[in-house]
Amino acid sequence: MQKSDCIFCRIATGAIPSLRILDTPDSFAFLDVGPLAPGHALLIPKQHSESILDVPEDVLHAVTAHLSPLARAIMRATGATGMNVLQNTGESGGQLVLHLHFHLIPRRSGDNLGFRWNARKYSAGEGEAVQTAILNELRS
Ligand code: 5GP
Ligand code: ZN
Repeated sequence: MQKSDCIFCRIATGAIPSLRILDTPDSFAFLDVGPLAPGHALLIPKQHSESILDVPEDVLHAVTAHLSPLARAIMRATGATGMNVLQNTGESGGQLVLHLHFHLIPRRSGDNLGFRWNARKYSAGEGEAVQTAILNELRS
């Protein structure tokens, strides 16, 4: 259920203090200690999972149900005009804390945070090949 050596489990129980903005039977949200913008928040399930790869479906549904009301409240409170919802999975995906969390990052024009990654183009047949591979995985 909860992991004693997990920093976000300990935040959810209150053992480690945080600036809490949402506390429900299933989920908890608090301000990121290293904000990219004022109001940058983290939404987590109270039940420990490492990432979207191992989270039970009901836990994922319960936690993601809070994304929209939380985003609206953060935007109204901060005057932000946009929002990035980000979920990092795995070390190569930039995940530092191994307890599933969603970043809600308030944005406004000209905030200089940046966003665009180095997008590439598919070579001939490459998109179709990866599409087939994913479809096969989903069917298996
Ligand atoms: P990740 O890179 O795993 O997606 O992001 C982890 C986030 O957790 C970082 O943005 C970091 O600032 C935040 N964080 C790490 N430890 C703490 C903490 O003890 N308290 C709070 N409020 N945020 C934390
Ligand atoms: Zn945890």
